[in-house]
Amino acid sequence: MTSKVRARIAPSPTGHLHLGTARTALYNYLFARKEQGDFILRLEDTDEVRSDEKYTADILDGLRWLGMNWDEGPDIGGPFPPYRQTQKTDHYEQVAHKLIAEGKAYFCYASPEELDALREEQKQRNESQRYDNRGRHYSSEEVDNYVKEGRIPVIRFKVEDDRVVSWHDAIKGEIQIHTADIGGDMVIVKSSGIAIYNFAVVVDDIDMKMTHVIRGEDHIHNTAKQILLYEALGMEHPVFAHVPLIVDTDRAKLSKRKHGEAVHILKYRVDGYMPEAMMNYLAQMSWTPLGDKEIFSVEEACQMFDIHKVSKSHAIFDIKKLNWFNAHYLRSLPLNVVTDRAMPYLSDYNLSQYSREKLEEIVKLLREGLEVLGDIKQAGAFFFNEKIEVSDEAVAGLLKQDNSRKVLSKVIESLPQFPWEDPKGCKAIIDGIGKELGMKGKDLYWPVRAALCGCTSGPDLGATLSILGETRVRSRIESLLQPC
Ligand code: GLU
Repeated sequence: MTSKVRARIAPSPTGHLHLGTARTALYNYLFARKEQGDFILRLEDTDEVRSDEKYTADILDGLRWLGMNWDEGPDIGGPFPPYRQTQKTDHYEQVAHKLIAEGKAYFCYASPEELDALREEQKQRNESQRYDNRGRHYSSEEVDNYVKEGRIPVIRFKVEDDRVVSWHDAIKGEIQIHTADIGGDMVIVKSSGIAIYNFAVVVDDIDMKMTHVIRGEDHIHNTAKQILLYEALGMEHPVFAHVPLIVDTDRAKLSKRKHGEAVHILKYRVDGYMPEAMMNYLAQMSWTPLGDKEIFSVEEACQMFDIHKVSKSHAIFDIKKLNWFNAHYLRSLPLNVVTDRAMPYLSDYNLSQYSREKLEEIVKLLREGLEVLGDIKQAGAFFFNEKIEVSDEAVAGLLKQDNSRKVLSKVIESLPQFPWEDPKGCKAIIDGIGKELGMKGKDLYWPVRAALCGCTSGPDLGATLSILGETRVRSRIESLLQPC
């Protein structure tokens, strides 16, 4: 009987939810849903100094924003708790002691100074740095002395010297790592009693019955170490899948240090990215569904996802492509949803001057020209502010031309005839004016737009006229026509 799929995301709450972690979480989520398995959130919070509740909140918020719901996690529990490593310190220690009892691990009393000296010697000899396993050979007398000195040991796991660790990775295929590249016997419990990541993660993944471990390819060397631990604990290891790293358009790894806030998922929420667009963009970065479908919902992705089809090569984060996805979703999501999401960006304006229906009309017009919803504040200023700025010199120049003044004077004359509730009818009147004056195209439309919006491009002219209404249209044109 094959067991139910259990996949997990195990972020460390030492920073905001990173774009790469979000993408890895998404692949775990899609895989678990596709296989009708469980998706689990576990917080790897053994770094007591850097872990912070504010990051935990950010991670939970970011995952939810992207549409991922976990089946078990720190906030909802589940049958295999706990979901925070700090709640399991004693348990890790017990498992480590079992390994010691079996001769597979040992207390190592080497002092930090000794290890520094070892590293220095290796550096001088141009050798790669590795622990020389000296702790395996302490005599009982030496140990007694160290204990008397007050040295507190770490626990190290014995790594075989000459061994190739290999596994079939669900994304990368066959992987082989020689233990010579692992760095010698590895610390599994620090002298503070806190378990090291590579050990805690194995104990947790066993305890929580994980069947699949899908994580970033920067963990490939850790996987080799972890496989040795699974063997020592007499357990089969889960299926591993290493997701390629995300790089920028210059091929540099996406990192907080180099890219700052641009790696923080919730920054995109603040800027006005649609979660549907972000999810879609992240999902298709390293995976293309059958039929090369580019636009898909999270539900569709759950049906189509295939971990074996995830690309082996680096994924490129390209903000232009993300903006393209975002623009698509801004235009195609239900208008009431986009209007709700637009409200916070418009909150500095007096919104009560418009009914909800009119606000939706405004958002409908503006979203056609937006890539990011946060830009709606600037793009829509002329709908909300009483006075507009026609600051651009080119626009101002245009309005000084005689032809432009003719168009605007004619519009003022015709205002009583505008069918204000009918955008097409409003536009037809402008076109009629053009016919009468023998003007069309930008000669006709630019002056009107410039007067109404302060710039020469913008949303549909008829709809803009209709929403602004007679009083505003009149006062804006009149103020421009005043002799300057
Ligand atoms: N805490 C590790 C990380 O955030 C988890 C890696 C794993 O999935 O095992 O990279």
